[in-house]
Amino acid sequence: MRQEKPIDVVVSARPNFMKMAPVLRALDARGVPFRLIHTGQHFDAAMSEVFFRDLGLPNPALNLGCGGGTHAEQTAAILVAVERALMAQRPALLVVAGDVTGTLAAALAASKLAIPIAHIEAGLRSFDRSMPEEINRVLTDRLADLLLTPSRDAAQNLFAEGIAPERVTFVGNVMIDSLHRALARPTDILNRLSLTPQGYALVTLHRPANVDESVRLNATLATVEAIARRLTTIFSVHPRTQARLHALGLSDRLERVQGLSAIQPLGYDDFVTLMRHARLVATDSGGIQEETTALGLPCLTLRRETERPITVSEGTNQIVGLSESAVGRAVDEILAGKVKTGRVPEGWDGRAGERVAEALISFMRARRSAPVDGPPRQ
Ligand code: UDP
Repeated sequence: MRQEKPIDVVVSARPNFMKMAPVLRALDARGVPFRLIHTGQHFDAAMSEVFFRDLGLPNPALNLGCGGGTHAEQTAAILVAVERALMAQRPALLVVAGDVTGTLAAALAASKLAIPIAHIEAGLRSFDRSMPEEINRVLTDRLADLLLTPSRDAAQNLFAEGIAPERVTFVGNVMIDSLHRALARPTDILNRLSLTPQGYALVTLHRPANVDESVRLNATLATVEAIARRLTTIFSVHPRTQARLHALGLSDRLERVQGLSAIQPLGYDDFVTLMRHARLVATDSGGIQEETTALGLPCLTLRRETERPITVSEGTNQIVGLSESAVGRAVDEILAGKVKTGRVPEGWDGRAGERVAEALISFMRARRSAPVDGPPRQ
């Protein structure tokens, strides 16, 4: 398909890269020109560069260098820099994914320039407005013209907020496309960490509610220790968690726990290899709840709620909270062979990137042929 103007695609932070890679591949395959813009929200080798290599992402045409700072500082910096980039090119469409700061800031910049917005992973809701990601989701969906949902339940959330059904398209889960491809690129990470398949638990924790404040972070660490008392545990420590451990003088605590290895964040191929061979995964990550459901792996979500309820209703995810005793009991059950089974949700089939590309193409086609004074949108 040929069109005059390219699409602008914005990525910001780790969970964006695996969501956008299949979409860019599908756009490429259809001859749709795009410009990849990296806001720089995650900018270091471990949280950004390695994913470009592992996922085969093209080099960004623009890197806006908006890393660091408070939420407001980062949002403001991205808003200004994306606006400048959009004004220089006036793309046919802006595409954003997920729920990070850069997702909302880029969408806001485009909306004020009357550039249409497509949001991948629309409609997820934790219904907890104290989560910065929830604010980003709700507001990005409000601004978006094309809302691409990963699961059927997401549309219900959007309709309940008054979003018109014509704006919503079910495409399935793009993250699972990347997961399928990574499974075909196993690495030697188990050897490097002296692990045997099924012989360890894998843990990730980085939500502000679990790691930012001292009492909570101590409780979070007690929970990780409860897992490590039962089973060798690998803890991939997110830079946010690392920074909080350091600031609160807790870095040594992890080193003293027998059976626990705290490691730097891994690249995608290493992490997927480690995850697929784990006995169980304990996490507060959104994406990892989905990946474990796609892999049929036991997942303990160390939160009170999830914005991805389908991983519980259909998948292998259990919401256990952060109490040491509840998590300990859940691990004991898994080790005793009482494992929650599940099925892979509709549209988590490795083809979601293609459906996104088709939806973007149809959207742009419809806009080109629409009368200039169309009805006001809801
Ligand atoms: N991930 C990774 N290396 C790690 C930890 C996670 O590649 O050390 C991947 C994981 O497989 C998933 C994504 O990062 O694809 C999830 O990102 P994150 O947990 O930062 O964000 P969330 O999903 O909570 O928005």
